[in-house]
Amino acid sequence: MARGLKAAVCVFIIALTIIAFTGCTSVGIHSTAARQRLDFGANDSVALCLYLDAGISEEQGRTLVQEAWQDDGPLYGLHINVVSVTAWPRPAFMMDGIIDALRREPLKPGCDRILALINRHVGDFVWGVLQLPEYLGAVDDETLTRGYAIARRITLNQMFESPRSVVRHEIYHLLGCDEHFRMARCYEQIARLKRWKREHATDFLPGWDLVNRRMIVSREAVNERLRAALNAEMNESLNASTEVSGVLSTQ
Ligand SMILES: [Zn+2]
Repeated sequence: MARGLKAAVCVFIIALTIIAFTGCTSVGIHSTAARQRLDFGANDSVALCLYLDAGISEEQGRTLVQEAWQDDGPLYGLHINVVSVTAWPRPAFMMDGIIDALRREPLKPGCDRILALINRHVGDFVWGVLQLPEYLGAVDDETLTRGYAIARRITLNQMFESPRSVVRHEIYHLLGCDEHFRMARCYEQIARLKRWKREHATDFLPGWDLVNRRMIVSREAVNERLRAALNAEMNESLNASTEVSGVLSTQ
């Protein structure tokens, strides 16, 4: 899921005897007719920098990505090329903390997207036993260039959502898909990003700003977009704490 779409997908809520699916095994149902109306151009690849939590081996990570995208990539002539693997211990327990840490990771030269594969730990197990809602993956809203997926099965929720399907789902978001269950929109986005890269002869597949609904066409612009968003959030929180202290000091 992209964070702005968090209410819609990527979480299975299991409560008491009622199993409510708001899950995201798929981003939608494929439509050959919708795909055939678009020109995806020549074969190309996305340079993926893989971040691996402790306990996820490089072979496991590469295999998971390969299996998640092997059926979909050929539909668009867009393959995933894992260009680097970085050890990246899980930075937080909850989705927001993981995504915020990823938003602080700059896209380096040669890297189009960052995908972190997160391991499970005992806290997740307890969370699952308590049957609390959980997010199995997410992507940043501002650029759709950084995301994560839980790469190990441990909770009951994951009986219905394999790590492979979560990785596939997040890859779609990373390729510009900004609406769940509308594959026609995903096709348009993938074709658009590929076309821009081809026509401008760059080495970067543009990101997609989900907030402003526009392409971001360079790594520098992607990094700057996130820097600005983080700074704005910091200023908001500073202003809020100043207002609170002002209220307290006048009481
Ligand atoms: Zn999603």
